[in-house]
Amino acid sequence: MISFSFDEEHEILRQQVRRFVEAEIVPIRQKLDETGEFPRELFRQMGELGYFALRYPEEIGGGDAGAIALSILLEELSRGDLGMAAACQMQSLMGTDFIYRYGTKEQHERLLKPALRGEKIGTICMTEPDAGSDLGSIVTRAVKKGDKWVLNGPKTWVTLGPIADLFTVAAKTDPDAGFRGVDIFLIEKGTPGLTIGKPIPKLGARAAGNSELFFEDCAIPAENLMGEQGSGYKNLSKILNEIRIQTGALSVGLARAAFEDALGYADERVAFGRPIRKFQAISHKLADMATLIESAKLHVYRASWMVDAGLSCTKEASMAKLVASEAANEVADKAMRIYAAYGFSKEYDVQRYFRDARFLLLGGGTSELLRNMINREL
Ligand SMILES: Cc1cc2nc3c(=O)[nH]c(=O)nc-3n(C[C@H](O)[C@H](O)[C@H](O)COP(=O)(O)OP(=O)(O)OC[C@H]3O[C@@H](n4cnc5c(N)ncnc54)[C@H](O)[C@@H]3O)c2cc1C
Repeated sequence: MISFSFDEEHEILRQQVRRFVEAEIVPIRQKLDETGEFPRELFRQMGELGYFALRYPEEIGGGDAGAIALSILLEELSRGDLGMAAACQMQSLMGTDFIYRYGTKEQHERLLKPALRGEKIGTICMTEPDAGSDLGSIVTRAVKKGDKWVLNGPKTWVTLGPIADLFTVAAKTDPDAGFRGVDIFLIEKGTPGLTIGKPIPKLGARAAGNSELFFEDCAIPAENLMGEQGSGYKNLSKILNEIRIQTGALSVGLARAAFEDALGYADERVAFGRPIRKFQAISHKLADMATLIESAKLHVYRASWMVDAGLSCTKEASMAKLVASEAANEVADKAMRIYAAYGFSKEYDVQRYFRDARFLLLGGGTSELLRNMINREL
C-alpha cells in the first residue's frame, strides 16, 4: 500500500534536528558564512547526537536508521545552514562508507568509530584540476611497490580538506582502463608525501572549506586499498545513488528556508498601500516555489524509500537530485526577486541561500550528467 506520511520515529527525528538547528546553527550561520571558519565543537556535538552514525549498523555504534532518516536529517540541517549540512553528509556517507565496507577491524576501531562520533573528520577526493565529471580521466596514480601502495598526483575541491583527518582517494591502478582502472585508497593526515593546499576562496557553503591536495611518493600500507583491486568504480557506484538522493535532501532544506523567509517578507513588505503578497505576480511566485518544493520532496523521499526497500533506483536517484537541486536554485532566485533590494543586502539570509544553492548543482553530478544518466535508464 502507498503511504505519504512519515513514521512516528521519523517525525521525532525531524523535530529533534529542527530544535538543534534553531538552538545551535541559526544563531551562528551568518558568522560561519562571513568567516568561513569550521565550528569544530559544534561538529563534535553533532557526532555525539549520533547524526554521522545514523545510517550505520548498531555494532559499529550506528543508528541502523536508513535512507529516509538520513534525508530528514540532512533536509533539516540544510534548512539551517548548507555548509554544516554538507559537512554532515560528507561525514556520514562519502567520508566514512569505504572504511566501513572495506576497512580492516583495526581501521574500524581506530578510525571509523571515532569518525562516527565526530572526533575525526573524513572526506572524499575524486576531483582533480583537469578531471571532474569525467572520473576516468584522473591522473593520480597508485603503484604497488613491495607491500606498499605509492600515490602521486593532484586533487582539488576536497570538502573539509583543510581540516580532515581521513582522505578517501580515487587513484588509477591501471592507467589504460579508463574509469575501470580507478581504485579507492584510505590516506591519513600526516602521511609523508601528502600535502594539503590552502583553502579555496569560494562563493557559498562556506562553513565547509575546500582545498587542493598533492600526493608525492606518498606510501601507504597495502590494507589501505579499499576493496579488491579493480573494483573501485563499481564500489563507488554502490553509494552514488545515496549521494544523489541526499544532495536532493540538502536542496529541499535550502529551498524551504528561502521559501519561508520570502513568505514572511511578502506579508510584511508594503508597496502601493498593501502587502506585496496581495499582488498576484508575487503570490504566484510563492505558489510556484511551494509547488517546486513539494515535487522535490516527493522525488527525494520516493528515492530514499527505494534505497531502504533494497530496490534499484539509479533513474529515480538521478531524477531526485536533478529536480531538487534545480528547484532549490529556482526557489532561491524567486526569493531574491521578492526581497528585491534587501535581497542584495548581506544583512539578510536570502542572498546566502542564493549563493549556497549553486553548490547543489555540482556535488553528486551536474544536471547535464544527471540527464545523461536518466536518458541511459529510459
Ligand atoms: C563546494 C564544492 C564542493 C566539492 N566537494 C568535492 C569533494 O569533496 N570531493 C570531490 O572529489 N569533488 C568535490 N567537488 C567537485 C565536484 O564534484 C565537481 O565540481 C563536479 O564533479 C563537476 O566537475 P567539474 O567542476 O570539473 O566540471 P566539468 O566536469 O569540467 O564540467 C564542466 C561543464 O561541462 C559539462 N559536462 C561535462 N561532461 C559532460 C557530458 N558528458 N555531457 C554533458 N555535459 C557535460 C558539465 O555538466 C559542466 O556544465 C566540489 C565542488 C564544489 C564547488
